[in-house]
Amino acid sequence: MSCPLHHGHPPSHLASTLLTTITSSILPLTAHNVSLGCKVFGAAILSKSDLSLITASTNDEITTPLYHGEISTLLSFHTLNNARAARGEERIDPKSCVFLSTHEPCSLCLSAITWSGFDNFYYLFTYKDTMEEFAIPHDINILRQVFETNPQEGQELGEGLYNKSNAYWKCYSIQDLIDHSPDIEQNQLVEQQREVKQSYRGLSDTYQSTKTETSIPLA
Ligand SMILES: [Zn+2]
Repeated sequence: MSCPLHHGHPPSHLASTLLTTITSSILPLTAHNVSLGCKVFGAAILSKSDLSLITASTNDEITTPLYHGEISTLLSFHTLNNARAARGEERIDPKSCVFLSTHEPCSLCLSAITWSGFDNFYYLFTYKDTMEEFAIPHDINILRQVFETNPQEGQELGEGLYNKSNAYWKCYSIQDLIDHSPDIEQNQLVEQQREVKQSYRGLSDTYQSTKTETSIPLA
């Protein structure tokens, strides 16, 4: 099965790099913050040209409930760019970057990614995963309750709640990338994805067992 290149990269290479980025650059930050009572969500920004890491961050809701993983990462990116500008260096154009979110972004983060000027994002876990495997139903509930978005007949839980290809950006799950990778590479990617997902199980258990001790409004 073939698929158009993603920013010049074959889907299999992008999928593998994004999974490695989650393991090496996001999960250590998330493990630390989950131990403090934060949720398990993280994000990273990579250069489109060589997929090198620009910045990564994780949910910091014990500081403010607005610091979702994506928001913390965007703030880090803006801080980095302001520092570059102060040194007389060129800012990094968000359109030259790949945005990676461990979980399908909530309505707050969809808007923040859009307002920050990115033209893409990729994610590992879907809304359905977040609701069913992580026991965090707020992404789906907020879109339905506040924005009145409702899936079409026949769509699965969590599907059809926002426009995945629009004038601002296109988004894909890592599973989409795997599905469009050559058959010969799919088994290895599926295994890599399974291992990364496995790493989140323990973190989710830790979060769920301690969440009543924090003041996060939507725990
Ligand atoms: Zn969010």
